[in-house]
Amino acid sequence: MKKEELISVLKIQEIDQKLKDLERHLKKLEKEKESVRVSIESLKKRASLIESKRNSIKKELRDLREALEREEELLRKAEEKMKVVRKEHEYRMLLREKSRHEDSVLKLLYRIEDVEKLLSDYNREATEELNLIKKKLKEIEYEKEELKKEEESIKNRIKELELEKEKTINTLNPEVINFYYEAKKVFGDLIIAKIEEGICNGCGLKIPNILFSKLMKHYSVERCPNCGRYIYYRL
Ligand SMILES: [Zn+2]
Repeated sequence: MKKEELISVLKIQEIDQKLKDLERHLKKLEKEKESVRVSIESLKKRASLIESKRNSIKKELRDLREALEREEELLRKAEEKMKVVRKEHEYRMLLREKSRHEDSVLKLLYRIEDVEKLLSDYNREATEELNLIKKKLKEIEYEKEELKKEEESIKNRIKELELEKEKTINTLNPEVINFYYEAKKVFGDLIIAKIEEGICNGCGLKIPNILFSKLMKHYSVERCPNCGRYIYYRL
């Protein structure tokens, strides 16, 4: 392999490594986006639960007030009838009826008072919590936007790198490309490893001094005796 070819292969190797990192980053973002989506959903659900509980208390209050109106109406009617009734036993019956309605009215008034208090307490609590939820939602929506922007920028970077890779591949002989992909199967992401301070970047082991001298002197490409990778000192 010619030196220029090796430089190109090295470039492709670097691009592939960068692409792998970016893909990994994208996957991480995907997970973050999912967790943001779950948070938004759960906050919205919580808000809707608060609203529905508030509505159910309001409905109870409305029902009680309607029941009160009905009882008051029945009470009035009983009182009206008492004014015109003649017979003693009918009067006593109406008196009992009146007393029953009075009891109901009183009970309803107490209950209404309780539910009004409940509603006012709940309103205070709910307003506080709903405000908090609104604030959190705003923060999370912002986070969501930021993630989206980050994702777009990574995708653009990936496109750029792929284009650059394609350009580099086009300058190379197909055999060289084949060599690269075949070697990738054996060595993983690092096929052509730099030697630094006598150590192979691929396996982390020291290469023999004589080999190191050769690399330094001739700027050649050799094979690492430990891992078999292609090694160079400088190209
Ligand atoms: Zn090695």
